[in-house]
Formats: sequence, structure tokens, C-alpha cells
Amino acid sequence: MGMGLKDRVEELYERVEAAAARCGRSAEEIAVVAVSKTVAAERVREAYDCGLRVFGESRVQEAVEKAPELPKDIEWQFIGHLQSNKVKFLPQFADWVQSVDRVEIAEKLARRYHELGRTVQVLLELNTSGEDSKHGFGSPQEALDAASQIAALDGVALRGAMTIGPFTDNESEIRTAFAVLRRFFEQLQTKLPDARIDTLSMGMSNDFEYAIEEGATMIRPGSVLFGPRSAR
Ligand SMILES: *Cc1c(COP(=O)(O)O)cnc(C)c1O
Repeated sequence: MGMGLKDRVEELYERVEAAAARCGRSAEEIAVVAVSKTVAAERVREAYDCGLRVFGESRVQEAVEKAPELPKDIEWQFIGHLQSNKVKFLPQFADWVQSVDRVEIAEKLARRYHELGRTVQVLLELNTSGEDSKHGFGSPQEALDAASQIAALDGVALRGAMTIGPFTDNESEIRTAFAVLRRFFEQLQTKLPDARIDTLSMGMSNDFEYAIEEGATMIRPGSVLFGPRSAR
């Protein structure tokens, strides 16, 4: 028997605290979104029983099926690439969408949530690595240009920025990408002084400690909690 989920959750929080302490921050500033994509509902329930309340999903269909089987006080965050034709399903589970990468998708989300009298919290996804496989706005300037329009929509609340670090073990490349996102986040705050821009989402299982040191207020660990995902 390896480590159980409870031990992994505890170890994660210890590592978050240590990383925060290294740069003079408090672990309380850092929200953990447990990424439960491909993880069966029973396992998510176990994680819930370990105290986790915020989960991230990257496939609409999977989340739509899983969420109703789980406690109502879970906050679900959609973190995957969002296609226009799937937007209509989002209000069924998502309180947050981290992967807004064009004005058009924000407008569609706004319409759907607004007609239900709700507001979805959104982040702008920035491609900070230049990798073609990644979604997200292609440059900070592009994202800044979109931000004012998105912030003005009823039904969405713009809360900050998200990125996926480069697929590499190279620490300085990873940190550079995170520093780009942080700079963009600060530009957003300056550009939109009336918006509540408070969320800098970066860092996954392999790089969340660097992300914390680079200023993340939200991390998205998956496999470090739930174990490796089988290839899909
Ligand atoms: C899968 C995924 C994660 C979690 O990845 P791990 O390497 O398992 O921690 C985080 N963020 C996004 C956007 C993802 O798609």
C-alpha cells in the first residue's frame, strides 16, 4: 500500500506552507483547486471527506455527470478548453471558468449565467510558453485588450489570470512563464481598478512550488493528489 489520499492531502498542504514560508507569504493566501478530471466520483468524495471543497474539471460532459453525485457545497471550476457549443452546460456545475481565451466565449458565458440571475467567476487564460498545443490568449496585450470588454459584461466577474506552465523540467523557463503571468495580472489590476482582480492561478503537480514563489494565489494540483491519470 502506498500513501493514502489523506496523507497526500496533508503532504500537499505541508509543501504549500513551506513554499509560502520561503517567500514570506502565508499559506492562507493560496487556494487549492484539486483537479479531479478522469477521477471517479467516489474518489472525489474521499477527497471531499479529507476536507477539500474546490475541484477542477476539464471536460464538460464528465463534469455534468459527476457533479450531481457529489455534495452540493463543492465549488466546481472549469479549467479545460471551452468550445462555444458546450457553454450552455456550464451553469449546471461551474462556479468558475478559468480558461476564457476570447471575448466571444465570455459573452456566451455572460448570457447563460445572466439569464439565470447568476454570475460566473472567470480568469483569462494566457499562453505564457508559446507552445502551440496550449490554448489561451497569445499575448498579454491581446488579453488586456479583451479584458475591458469582458469586465463590462453582466453575468461574468473577471477575477484574474491563469496559465499552464511549459512542459519542461527547466526551472528558469517555468519561472519565466509564471513571472509573465504575474506581470499580466498586475497590469490587469492597474487597467481595471474597479474590478476585483485577486486571483493568479498557476502551478500544477510538478511546478506548484515555483508558482507559489512567483506569486500564485491559486494552484491546481491533480496527479499529486489522485495519482497518475491513465492516457486518454
Ligand atoms: C490536468 C490539469 C491540471 C492538473 O495537472 P497535474 O499535473 O495532474 O497536477 C491543472 N490545470 C489544468 C488546466 C489541467 O488541465
